[in-house]
Amino acid sequence: MSDSATSGRASGDGERGAADGAETTPHQAAVPPRTAALPRAAALAQGAGDGTRAVRAGLPEPVKHEPTLPGPVFAAHFHLPGDPTGPYTYGRDENPTWTLLESAIGELEAPGRDDVETLVFASGMAAISSVLFSQVRAGDAVVLPNDGYQALPLARAQLEAYGVEVRTAPTGGDAQLDLLDGAKLLWIESPSNPGLDVCDIRRLVDAAHARGALVAVDNTLATPLGQRPLELGADFSVASGTKQLTGHGDILLGYVVGRGGEAMTAVRRWRKIVGAIPGPMEAWLAHRSIATLQMRVDRQDATALRVAEALRERPEVTGLRYPGLPDDPSHKIAAQQMRRFGCVVSFTLPTRARADRFLDALRLVDDATSFGGVRSTAERRGRWGGDAVPEGFIRLSVGAEDPDDLVADLLRALDASAD
Ligand SMILES: *Cc1c(COP(=O)(O)O)cnc(C)c1O
Repeated sequence: MSDSATSGRASGDGERGAADGAETTPHQAAVPPRTAALPRAAALAQGAGDGTRAVRAGLPEPVKHEPTLPGPVFAAHFHLPGDPTGPYTYGRDENPTWTLLESAIGELEAPGRDDVETLVFASGMAAISSVLFSQVRAGDAVVLPNDGYQALPLARAQLEAYGVEVRTAPTGGDAQLDLLDGAKLLWIESPSNPGLDVCDIRRLVDAAHARGALVAVDNTLATPLGQRPLELGADFSVASGTKQLTGHGDILLGYVVGRGGEAMTAVRRWRKIVGAIPGPMEAWLAHRSIATLQMRVDRQDATALRVAEALRERPEVTGLRYPGLPDDPSHKIAAQQMRRFGCVVSFTLPTRARADRFLDALRLVDDATSFGGVRSTAERRGRWGGDAVPEGFIRLSVGAEDPDDLVADLLRALDASAD
């Protein structure tokens, strides 16, 4: 929560570098090599604030007459005379628009590290499945959370159908620790969605590595500005880019960041096999959205804390959870390993009917699923049937509205929905 003071202070370098790319032709600039070292990005990784890094993330070196962020490259195939060498051959394997987005996400998830590889996917589930199904075989054991994203049980059933042993435990209390003996992969989701429990990632990673297991962390809720799982020792940071990373509720996206090497080669191969690739337009929109990531998360997360504080005062609200609240059960560990606490607040109203009336009475909060967007959303989570939550359980995603307006709307809807 420390470096917001450094944000918003660009260094006035708009003129710099006009001639930097003199020997790079515009054509080459539009198709940067996948391994492009980005000297500016490397310089920024050394100590720049999150806002500075977000607006610059993944941008190519400036080239005269080229745009700052090259537009989406729509191509099923690329000119390829002779031996088929990369980087760009066929559109299911690589695309220049992905390359830039992958650089951006990698810079945010693992600043200053050049030993990591980032792969983007069509959705968060595509990214999750690519890790689960590329890393384990029949006979292996996997440890999943039992309170994670609602599609994880579907992945569990599929793993079991392939002969993989699946063990589950809750996120809170580091309960997954007890299941690690003989496991091949530990899957962590912290904070968990929708319960907002947090586990001690480094402690679990150390225990898993001591037993030879790989560790993947679902970083969707935190975003890379809230938590950097690779710095906590994880082998993979996996996330849905559909949520706060892109923040406008208009695209689906997923990504995996991991140390380069065998494990990531297998993830890349899985992406090719299943073809779960993002369209160039989605990839470009995502990259464009990341420029405002720091502004959005700072605004939304600060308002989420205010909302949580306001809800805490209401007698009809129980089970209030927000990891940023000092007395939240997750706060102590969250404060150790997170830099921001997310934009999701969860709580329970006395009955299903009360929750429905509350949602109906809201004017600035849409009754919709998903989270992380600039427009606030809320839903009665029990309507899906997948999460183990009370009927009156509400997951509220705090947007970028004025905090006073949003708090007033929520309190008014609580009053209006009273029996
Ligand atoms: C939404 C979500 C996913 C799935 O992402 P999609 O982009 O919807 O496929 C995975 N994990 C968490 C924690 C999520 O919130």
